[in-house]
Amino acid sequence: MQADLIILGGGPAGLTAGLYASRARINVILLEKGLPGGQLAATELVDNYPGQPEPILGFELAQKMESQARRFGLEIQTADIVSISRTDAGFDLKNEEGTAYSCRALIVATGANPIKPGIPGELQFAGRGVSYCAVCDGPFFRDVEVAVIGGGDSAVEEAVYLARFASKVHLVHRRDKLRAVKEIQEKAFAEPKMVIHWNSVPEEIIGEFDVKTLRIRSTLDGSISELQVGGVFFYVGIKPTNEAFNGLVNADERGFVLTDENMATSVPGVFAAGDVRVKVLRQISTAVGDGAIAAYSAQHYLESA
Ligand code: NAP
Repeated sequence: MQADLIILGGGPAGLTAGLYASRARINVILLEKGLPGGQLAATELVDNYPGQPEPILGFELAQKMESQARRFGLEIQTADIVSISRTDAGFDLKNEEGTAYSCRALIVATGANPIKPGIPGELQFAGRGVSYCAVCDGPFFRDVEVAVIGGGDSAVEEAVYLARFASKVHLVHRRDKLRAVKEIQEKAFAEPKMVIHWNSVPEEIIGEFDVKTLRIRSTLDGSISELQVGGVFFYVGIKPTNEAFNGLVNADERGFVLTDENMATSVPGVFAAGDVRVKVLRQISTAVGDGAIAAYSAQHYLESA
């Protein structure tokens, strides 16, 4: 299948790029391997998106973005692209079966995935107490003690969310200060079910069929303590979803794509938008801005090429 522009990824950045490209009447297809929405769809509540004065479910906001983009005619297809190569005419995108799509310009908006630190027991108990998505799995932990690892926006926000279900939430953070924005910290400090374990890192997850114990180590004196928890949620950061185009465009040492202010990458005709690129602030609002700029830049590229 051929299109002038292909957008890879259907999170806020990709959907916004799709909306702008469709409105500009570009021959565009958006490819998404799962359900549109990206990380936004797995976020419980969003309360910092401008124009939305009341908190809104991440899933609902994602659906609104999708239906708005479709209203302008955006075609969204399900496809798992595994590699991208340059051709004389532009780019070939392959799925497991071979070349599936060709395009003249490309916007990568594939977002990012949670980092899995791989401590002993983590992978063994994945899906049986170990999780990377509180919104997906939180309701399974009603009246159970859980632990959340990390001190960033995701860890602290999701720890507060988990307190709705869990009998107690142990927030395990490796420093003595949270990285999360102050407003999210305040919610955690005000949550009576929250116990914060400062200067602590996860050491091992122990269980039988499912998780029973999390061993944590003090970074100050190396002492080990045991938390009797049924769930362990990891939020220790994100890595770019770049497997399909790793090596095609310049990226930083962690694999996040380098762009200029017009979202142009090192390869003419390839643009990047949202969490997958190097940027200072990863938010829905900044992903949306990236998507609009990427579509505008792609339009100019297609008109001038
Ligand atoms: P993040 O900001 O990179 O935070 C990762 C946290 O995990 C940090 O507290 C870090 O500790 C800790 N950590 C890293 N490696 C660790 C390890 N091996 N063992 C134990 N702890 C470890 O990642 P994030 O919270 O997933 O957020 C990703 C991006 O999305 C950020 O830009 C964030 O602002 C954004 N976001 C925004 C919102 C919102 O605005 N509502 C919500 C979610 C995410 P240190 O603090 O010591 O480095």
